[in-house]
Amino acid sequence: MPWLKAILADITGLEVDAIVNAANSRLAGGGGVDGAIHRAAGYQRLLDATRQWGACPAGEVRITPGFRLPAAWIIHTVGPVWQGGQNDEPALLAACYRKSLLLSESHSVNSIAFPSISTGVFGYPSDQAAEVAVRSVRATLACTPNVSEVIFCCYSRADLALYRELVA
Ligand code: ADP
Repeated sequence: MPWLKAILADITGLEVDAIVNAANSRLAGGGGVDGAIHRAAGYQRLLDATRQWGACPAGEVRITPGFRLPAAWIIHTVGPVWQGGQNDEPALLAACYRKSLLLSESHSVNSIAFPSISTGVFGYPSDQAAEVAVRSVRATLACTPNVSEVIFCCYSRADLALYRELVA
């Protein structure tokens, strides 16, 4: 069974095979974790790599090299914007985790790190998002035999406490 763990870290520095980016639908860089990943990977190279796709809808994924990052790959996924929870937000958020894992499997990824998708600017309540994240990852792992380590990369102690309890 793969190892699930929660850590407190800047995702851009992690030495894993793939990191997941909580992107926006334009895939054009932005603030939060997306901005940090663009700065660390190399802004222009990442923009050049994502330009070919145009927009990416919520719940979907795209993959690029990690460029200057320690991670070989960046999986870009667009989380849902929180609108109160009645607009398919949980299903869309679960799809971000599921499709990121399935795409990483097809790129021979062993270790992958996720940020807490949608919980920044997109406003998804952190506790509910963490439950969706861990449930979706656990449900998908049976289909991803290559993946041996999944890291929930938290950016606050509050998030770390939530995830530590869920992965325990
Ligand atoms: P979204 O638009 O999907 O809400 P944000 O980037 O605004 O994305 O926030 C998503 C989560 O990523 C938040 O919990 C935020 O604290 C976290 N975050 C921001 N920067 C980093 C980073 N460098 N490493 C890991 N997580 C980060």
